[in-house]
Amino acid sequence: ALEATSNPSATLRPKIFDEFSLSDRVAIVTGANRGLGLEMALALCEAGARVTYCLDLPSQPSEEFIATRDFIKRLGNASRLEYISADVRDQKAIWQLGEDIADKEGRMDVCVANAGILRPHTDCLDYSAEQFKEVLDVNTNGVLYTAQAAGRQMARFGTPGSIILIGSMSGSITNKNHSWISYNTSKSAVLQMARSMACELGPKKIRVNSLSPGYIYTSLTATSLDNQPGLLAKWSEQNPLGRLGRPDELRGVITWLASDASTYCTGSDICVNGGHTSW
Ligand code: NDP
Repeated sequence: ALEATSNPSATLRPKIFDEFSLSDRVAIVTGANRGLGLEMALALCEAGARVTYCLDLPSQPSEEFIATRDFIKRLGNASRLEYISADVRDQKAIWQLGEDIADKEGRMDVCVANAGILRPHTDCLDYSAEQFKEVLDVNTNGVLYTAQAAGRQMARFGTPGSIILIGSMSGSITNKNHSWISYNTSKSAVLQMARSMACELGPKKIRVNSLSPGYIYTSLTATSLDNQPGLLAKWSEQNPLGRLGRPDELRGVITWLASDASTYCTGSDICVNGGHTSW
């Protein structure tokens, strides 16, 4: 029944931290061999996910991945990380992987479509069709294929699911001296993709949101930062908190979005950028 207010005396009301638990959930995260993807996969395991499948390009997992997997084993909460070599640009292969995982685990609950690339450039008038396509193939098409792969299994098993598309503040703003036209375009599309999918999948109890980080030091931003002295100071100066973000500053928000603590949140873009887009 519809109630105007919640009932604090209700015996079934869960404790607030229990709502963040991902106990027994099955998750996939793309681009999770390192960087933000690996950090978010770790957070899902720390929140109790039964298993988080990490998809990435290399045939073998990185040393960073192996160290993280060992750390999770030592947590002793029965969560595990699994590595699968996969290319998000291959729609058929990604759909098949989603089906194989759901068949094996008997469910699919959480999807983080995170794999992304940045190809810095300066002159949009010279930008080639190949370069433009290269970025959109991963950042936009690959995100769609990943969300489809998980959403199809969530619908098949009838479990309420949470799909999180990793956008960027570059989907909403740009920079005067480096427009990153392909990257910005690809990320802008992701924000609208989340809204569109949320509308269609709401009746199936599948939530779709985008998560848009600001500048965080990873291998993606390292190329720009290492090659341009003064860029770190400039980005920091532009930010109300006066600094770049850390990968671990996404662990709270990804757990919230993946869990029952956010059951009324869908079709939203969640910004985690130190206030960078606030002015
Ligand atoms: P990283 O470059 O550290 O990690 C991205 C991962 O995606 C890499 O492991 C990469 O593999 C993988 N990947 C690339 N192409 C494919 C593909 N076709 N199939 C599967 N995996 C692939 O970047 P971040 O961790 O920083 O970025 C993660 C996401 O967050 C991206 O979508 C990025 O756009 C977004 N983001 C990042 C921000 C930042 O400041 N760092 C800010 C805002 C958004 P490989 O290395 O083998 O190519």
